[in-house]
Amino acid sequence: RIEPTTFANEPALWHARLLAPSDTHHKYDRGHTVVLSGGASHGGAARLSAMAALRGGAGLVTVASPASGLLVNATHLDAIMLKRCDEEGDLRALAEDRRLNAYVLGPGFGVGEKARASAGVILKAGRALVLDADGLTSFQDVQRALFEREGAGPLVLTPHDGEFARLFPDLAGLPSKLDRARLASRRADAIVVLKGGDTVIAAPDGRAAINENGSPALATAGTGDVLTGLIAAQLANGVPAFEAACAAVWIHACAASGFGTGLIAEDLPRLVPRVLATLH
Ligand code: AMP
Ligand code: MG
Repeated sequence: RIEPTTFANEPALWHARLLAPSDTHHKYDRGHTVVLSGGASHGGAARLSAMAALRGGAGLVTVASPASGLLVNATHLDAIMLKRCDEEGDLRALAEDRRLNAYVLGPGFGVGEKARASAGVILKAGRALVLDADGLTSFQDVQRALFEREGAGPLVLTPHDGEFARLFPDLAGLPSKLDRARLASRRADAIVVLKGGDTVIAAPDGRAAINENGSPALATAGTGDVLTGLIAAQLANGVPAFEAACAAVWIHACAASGFGTGLIAEDLPRLVPRVLATLH
């Protein structure tokens, strides 16, 4: 292990790890992200994550939802594939499909007993996973579920302050945001992205980065779901989890820069390619 080191979240920290565009790439080389969605009434957040994953550079993106979500997803999504996922068996098959590279669990997923059981299946499979929103909320006992993971796939948790306090109640009162993120990361053995105006990204090995290009324009509904998709895109590209999370947080903030009130989450994904163009 390395000593705790704190970085400013700048491209120099992660740029070399990004998947550079290549003449010989096809979409499969850029990876396949799957967003697990709930039913029709709350799929919007999952669609935001999915669009962000595609704009963020995943080669393919699938939204998996119960049958009740398929039609509304089909109405809103074109380049994104749809998959029906009703039963725990469907979910298990998805979790074990080695052609899939990164999973998003949370935005638009729903809460309750069924959601909890489903989240358990995906978590246990130990695949590359971003856990956010309902994926954090639906777990009373997310910490135990994290320990039951089989396999060592990269795991990124993206709580805002409220979600963090539910997940790590004993850490939430610590005065230093860096300490909160670092201790949580070590305990969960996961990358923790503790969001806010000054997002902190922490790794279990002690590295932490403070994001300084945040924009208050991001303080609006759904922007966190976009961030989740951007992280999953980097994971699908094969970027290591700490660098994937740092890059996505920076890209997300950069996409919003120059905007103020009135920017909404739906606007963000289409601003991402311009940011990516400055990085390659
Ligand atoms: P969520 O709370 O899940 O919707 O996520 C909100 C997103 O917006 C996170 O990426 C936050 O870091 C970001 N955000 C929220 N408020 C601000 C702010 N005042 N300045 C910069 N970023 C913010
Ligand atoms: Mg959120």
